[in-house]
Formats: sequence, structure tokens, C-alpha cells
Amino acid sequence: MMKTLLLWDIDGTLTLSGGAGMHALQAGLRREFGVARPLNDIDYAGRTDRWIMRQIFGKAGLPDTEANLARLLNAYLTELPAALHNPSTRVLPGVHAALTALAARPHFTQALLTGNVEQGARIKLGHHGLSDYFPFGAFADDGEWRNDLGPVALRRARERLGVEFPPERVFVIGDTPHDIACGKVIGAQTIAVATGQYSMDELHAHRPVKVFPDLSDTAAFLRSVGAA
Ligand SMILES: [Mg+2]
Repeated sequence: MMKTLLLWDIDGTLTLSGGAGMHALQAGLRREFGVARPLNDIDYAGRTDRWIMRQIFGKAGLPDTEANLARLLNAYLTELPAALHNPSTRVLPGVHAALTALAARPHFTQALLTGNVEQGARIKLGHHGLSDYFPFGAFADDGEWRNDLGPVALRRARERLGVEFPPERVFVIGDTPHDIACGKVIGAQTIAVATGQYSMDELHAHRPVKVFPDLSDTAAFLRSVGAA
């Protein structure tokens, strides 16, 4: 049986965090650097944590150094669990059913391809009990640019499973044009879901293989990845 690899985005695709990431960054910036500043003028969707933090340093007039990145990252990770306790945090429709169905199919491997650093990804998914579906992935720890993360995810899959996944058996699932672009870089099949900040029309314009309004039609989603 040919194996299939699914590479999942997190924010806007699996879960919504109700602005928890931004609020944790804001609290971390205040605590670690004494800068009290709203951070709603930053383009978060589809970006990596490293890229986002560099934008914050630019806007806050702080030196963009590795040491400062590490300080802000640590403060962010400390604040994130509390920030996730807000009424808007949730798992998106159909996600539980899709993950469960795929986990029951031994020839499907699920992993992460996300702009979160791994620790942040684990905190966000762990909040909803979803972390164990994803034994590995590619994260912002691996690079500042999302387009660099696809090859890392493929390499990890190869190392862990000893399987070379052909591009037609690799699916990148995400909610932004950045996800579609990074999937195309590795020749993967791209599936967009309009549960983040982009509409179905906006996502269609970037020509993914398939666009879903959300993942509530489990059978249709499973068909789109060859699992039904
Ligand atoms: Mg996203």
C-alpha cells in the first residue's frame, strides 16, 4: 500500500486561538522588554513566529538580535498557556473527525507544517488534546520563511519512516496563501480551508487543488486526500 503524508497547519486550520498568540507576545514584550504596545498591526496569518518577532522588534524599536529573539520567545511561551484560556479558543469544525479517521488508517501519516515554534505548537495543540496526532513536523525553529519548511518536513518524514513520499502522496493543508505557496514549493497537493482570515474566493485565486469552507464534510475531505 502506498503511503500518504499529510502536513497540517495549526492556526486557522486545526484550531482558533482567539488571539492568544498575539496576547502572549504582547504580555511577553511588556514583561521582558518593558514595552507596552498593542500588536494588532502585524500580519500574523501564515507567517512564522521568528518572522513575527522580527516585525515586533522593528515596530517597537528594539534591536533584532538572536539574544532578543530568545528572550521574547521564552516570555511568549511562558505567557501562552494562560492566554489560551479565553472563550474564543476552539477546535475548528470537522477537525476531530478528520484526525481520528486518518489516525485509524495505517498508510496515512500526519505531521505538522506550521509557522509556530515547536514548543508553542505543542502548547496550542495540547490545550485541546490534539498534540499526539502529530509525532513530528517542521516548525519556526527550522526557519524564518514558511517556504523553507516543506523540505524539512519531508526530510523528517524520510528519517523517521524510511519512506520517500512521492509529491502526489503529500498533502499540505492550510488556511492562507502562504500555506498553498509552501506546499507548491515541494510539489505537494495543496488543500485550503477557509476557516482563517481568507475567504474561499481569495484562496481559490492561489490555485490549491481543493478549497473547503471548513472540514465539517468529513467524507469529502477524506476523499480529497485519497482516504475514502
Ligand atoms: Mg494558519
